[in-house]
Amino acid sequence: MADCYLCIHGHFYQPPRMDPFTGHIPRESDAAPYANWNERITAECYAPNAASGNFEHISFNLGGTLARWLDEHASATYERIVAAEREHWQIHSIGNGLAQPVHHTILPLARRRDKICQVRWGIASFRCRFGHEPLGMWLPEMAVDYETLEILSAEGIRFTILSDEQVRGNLEAGAGPYQVRLPNGENIAIFVRDRHLSNALSFGMPGPAHVGDWIREQITWRCQQGRLLLIATDGETFGHHQRQGAEVLGRILEADKAFGYELTTLGLYLRQNPPQAELEVIENSAWSCNHRLARWVTGCDCTPGESRWKGALRRALDNLACDLDHLYVREAARLGATPWRLRDAYIAVVMGQMDGPTLLTEHDLSHLSREEIKRLLALLEAQHHRQRMYASCTFFFEDPDRLEPCYAIANGIRALTLTHHATGDDLSHSFRRDLESVVSGKSNLTAADIFDDLLSRAQV
Ligand SMILES: [Zn+2]
Repeated sequence: MADCYLCIHGHFYQPPRMDPFTGHIPRESDAAPYANWNERITAECYAPNAASGNFEHISFNLGGTLARWLDEHASATYERIVAAEREHWQIHSIGNGLAQPVHHTILPLARRRDKICQVRWGIASFRCRFGHEPLGMWLPEMAVDYETLEILSAEGIRFTILSDEQVRGNLEAGAGPYQVRLPNGENIAIFVRDRHLSNALSFGMPGPAHVGDWIREQITWRCQQGRLLLIATDGETFGHHQRQGAEVLGRILEADKAFGYELTTLGLYLRQNPPQAELEVIENSAWSCNHRLARWVTGCDCTPGESRWKGALRRALDNLACDLDHLYVREAARLGATPWRLRDAYIAVVMGQMDGPTLLTEHDLSHLSREEIKRLLALLEAQHHRQRMYASCTFFFEDPDRLEPCYAIANGIRALTLTHHATGDDLSHSFRRDLESVVSGKSNLTAADIFDDLLSRAQV
């Protein structure tokens, strides 16, 4: 009998880097000798971990922007990762991959129908990539509230992962799983990562020759019979943040029997060990900001310098989103569509599983004229861009004059341009006015300047 179980979970994710108008990633000189950071991190992390079989033995989630890029630009690595997950599924009838809300939105900050959309799109994307239903879902930045957990549970998700500082209760059962009772009477399982152990690996990683000593120092004393230890960290730790990471991960995965622990994955462990104890969740908490999500709302000490731009940018995006929604709902209702159900299903078009007219036919809209079909599909695509504006990366860093906030503004421009063509309503003036309040402490530009620049490029 194993003394102790160990699971290592990797959160594999990259922010969207492509030009929103061309779809290509501009050359990133700081990623040299590679053309951009996606290429460099693939060479340092994704490719070696896939080649050495590490994805077969860890638990992981693969963000949508990264998965799409790998699929198009590093297909051998992408296929190895997908095959690893499918093999785990074939052996155990349970996968080791977790789904992820598709645009990495901080869900507690989103409205209910957008939470539902992100969760449904994330599940549908997972099903499309891995060929089966996901059992678990990774929450972006582990940001959590009860409404999000209720939606996960309602959509068939059985578990998620939180960090030990995000829960209240007795953690004697190690990583759990624990049961969390939800306000609507349902429940969901939570695995709790060991923050100190996870950080010990992420920031104090040993060299490959010293993995045995590290295991004795960090894992052995934490092992308790029949309990699970959970390390959860950014997947890029293994080879990118820590150059020796892929090799060290491989050695930890191989060392299990010799050190008295047994490797497992989360879905498998949950099936064998249903939750016994209960925990409460600390709402509006996240693993990467302990200021009640202020990192993505008002700014906080997590980023250096003046961060009031974050609130101003969120207001500009929220106002635009509200206007886009109003026009979409008005037009969808006029054409006899059920707007949010149709939007939730639109991910099949985004993933290339069906074309737009087929989706509308499936939603009893075959009576629409060619002109009406074009208009409704343009408004659905505008909703897709509107969802992209809220990627957590938009608000994560220290200044609005950098790639990630520009990407959000560019997606706003895409959404309002599509809407303008479809309905004749022009939202550009109000959006630009709101962006004037967003000031860069670095360049003194306002986001309205960024808007003008992006708009002129879009017109080219
Ligand atoms: Zn913070």
